[in-house]
Amino acid sequence: MDHTSIAIVGGGLSGTLTAIHLLRTAREATTVYLIEKEPRKMHRGVAYSSSLPFQPLNVPAARMTLFPEMPHHFLDWLTEHQPVYPTLLPDPISPDSFVPRCVFGDYVEDCLAVAEADALKGVRLVRLTQEVLAVEKRGKNYSFAVSLRNGSQVMAQKVVLALGNLPPADLPIPNKAFYQSPLYKASPWSPEILNALPAHAPVLLLGSSLTMVDLVGSLVKKGHQGKIYVVSRHGLLPQTHQVDAVPYPLAPVRLQRPLSPLKAMRLLRKEVRKAAQEGYAWHSVVDALRDSLSGIWHNFSFQEKKQFLRHVKPYWEIHRHRMPLASSLMLRQLQEKGQLEVKAASLVDLHANGKMVHAEIRERGNTGTQILEVAMVINCTGPLCDYTKSKDPLVQQLLSEGLICPDDLKMGVTATPAGNLLNAEGLPIENLFTLGPPLKGLLYESTALREIRHQAASLASLLLFGEAMLEAALP
Ligand SMILES: Cc1cc2nc3c(=O)[nH]c(=O)nc-3n(C[C@H](O)[C@H](O)[C@H](O)COP(=O)(O)OP(=O)(O)OC[C@H]3O[C@@H](n4cnc5c(N)ncnc54)[C@H](O)[C@@H]3O)c2cc1C
Repeated sequence: MDHTSIAIVGGGLSGTLTAIHLLRTAREATTVYLIEKEPRKMHRGVAYSSSLPFQPLNVPAARMTLFPEMPHHFLDWLTEHQPVYPTLLPDPISPDSFVPRCVFGDYVEDCLAVAEADALKGVRLVRLTQEVLAVEKRGKNYSFAVSLRNGSQVMAQKVVLALGNLPPADLPIPNKAFYQSPLYKASPWSPEILNALPAHAPVLLLGSSLTMVDLVGSLVKKGHQGKIYVVSRHGLLPQTHQVDAVPYPLAPVRLQRPLSPLKAMRLLRKEVRKAAQEGYAWHSVVDALRDSLSGIWHNFSFQEKKQFLRHVKPYWEIHRHRMPLASSLMLRQLQEKGQLEVKAASLVDLHANGKMVHAEIRERGNTGTQILEVAMVINCTGPLCDYTKSKDPLVQQLLSEGLICPDDLKMGVTATPAGNLLNAEGLPIENLFTLGPPLKGLLYESTALREIRHQAASLASLLLFGEAMLEAALP
């Protein structure tokens, strides 16, 4: 009997869920290596490993099942496990609950343990907590050598690069030396970032997305009393979920023809007006569009994609990535009492001045600049997508050997819709795959559970049986 060996680099949601599907569906002898560099991120990745207080899922529990064919799977798991979480889950679970993200991480880990226990004889999982430094193509039997930081190697016929979300990039400023200062926190996701911040000190958060909202929540939960400035180019906050919104039946036929970003927005506004007359919330129209988005994005020309990113994306993102009502009320309260100030401004420069930082910003529409004096600056601008800017040793090695190629817009890497990576000539690299955030340039929507769970199931089928079982996201 042939033995298949598959190495998954990255133990976040994408890597773990691929491992789960491999263990559930492999019928012949298979070894799955799941390799994660940070112990606390094993089975959780960036999103579900946070130990900061107030880090809720941004999607109601009813929509967070790992298995779409079992829509109540997560809800049932939560109900069964609620007694284990007297502090994190004090209230009875409802489909509309926004539970802490670390609890979802436990669910993912538990599903992997079940898949491992139920796997057929000869199908096994090997967890390795090591950083992968290189993936190199080798001879015929073992297609790849995966080199780990401890000097050992894993030989695998197939490799999945589940590298996920790269840490945010530093914003361009003249005084780059500031970024070495302890007063700057380059990533909002490290658990210890808030420890050094005195409770009454003013703080500046760069970026106004959901990550910023979560961090403000964590600050408040830790009893922070100081001023919180939020600076982002548009100063737009995420919209609020409406959990009781009735699903909107959007006819897919209307979206099949190629649409420019402008026409797509006009059509969306028209559809929202029509939906409102019929009693539907705009939230339902945006959600109904979700499955058509990759197709619409794919049909845009290169110039249209750039137009979308520049002019439409900021508005689209705040409607698409919404916050729970509790988060929205918290922000409003903080704004009303003057503790939170959101500014539509660009960052001009940052200078350390003793224990404080002078943050120079230019508000939108103004020519002059102003200085905010804060004790800490935290970068909440979101994951870096441009792989050419990454300092990660593995990413640099993969780029230099042509095993990953950035897409034209530098939003991720080039690949087929099924996740097979493409070389510089646009040809598939045999047995090398990816899923999740690296496919953003191709699919646009490729970072949330809803997309990742389809991709992981499909990729497992491709790895084991040579064909992706689920429908491709693109037309
Ligand atoms: C803060 C946050 C909150 C989110 N909340 C939600 C939500 O509520 N609902 C929803 O649907 N989606 C949410 N998402 C989106 C989505 O679920 C995540 O983007 C998703 O978890 C991505 O998983 P991933 O495994 O691809 O990436 P990651 O979570 O980034 O995992 C990649 C892993 O690879 C590891 N790795 C990288 N390089 C190496 C290497 N060289 N060697 C070994 N290991 C390596 C990293 O350490 C990391 O653990 C959220 C995302 C974020 C960032």
